[in-house]
Amino acid sequence: MSIKYQLKRSKNRKTLAIKIKAKEVFVYAPMHLKQDFIEQWLMQKQGWINKHLEKQIKRVDAASVLTQKTLTILGEEINLIFVEGQVKSNVELVDGVLSINTSRRVKNVSDKQLALIADFAKNKLTDYCSAKAQRLAKQINESFHSVSVKHVRSRWGACDSKRRLQFNLQLVSAPLWVIEYVVAHEVAHLKVMDHSRRFWQTVESIYPDYRKAENWLKENGYKLDIFKLE
Ligand SMILES: [Zn+2]
Repeated sequence: MSIKYQLKRSKNRKTLAIKIKAKEVFVYAPMHLKQDFIEQWLMQKQGWINKHLEKQIKRVDAASVLTQKTLTILGEEINLIFVEGQVKSNVELVDGVLSINTSRRVKNVSDKQLALIADFAKNKLTDYCSAKAQRLAKQINESFHSVSVKHVRSRWGACDSKRRLQFNLQLVSAPLWVIEYVVAHEVAHLKVMDHSRRFWQTVESIYPDYRKAENWLKENGYKLDIFKLE
């Protein structure tokens, strides 16, 4: 899967450039340069990008999911309430309200609250992606080893040579049709590992409107970064 970045095109620009600002990757490109070309160029820069992102993400700011008080999970908006000083730490979902309860023994309350929400979201996303991947893989006669969800910085999804599919926790707040695209993308890698023409044809066979989803991620993806765990 491609790197997460914001694309800024301008008429006056003649060359490609990357900047990393506030933990986001910005790519500056000439007006009409082909997306494919930009993507390929970015792939070569992945090592550099990761190194610089790591540098910037030494300390984490306050997690926005905690300040927002709402969370979109698989297309549904959930209100969050925080209850401290409980006997046990856990989460409970009742009528669209997720209660995040922390035990009185917890020292760093916001860390714990964040971990509880992230765990909850991770389970939901894992279930969703597993079911989707199963259905889509069947359509192209492929099978996979496992599905997992992690909080990562630079990728929406991954598929390795051992046929393990991995998805970014941040996707949980994306629209369902976008999550489905990322699953379709990684499932297509079970058949074709690279981003060749054959690969995109495979994607298209299980997810026809993939360009729209790619664009959505490019334009809005950075907004999904609400689980700041490290
Ligand atoms: Zn890919």
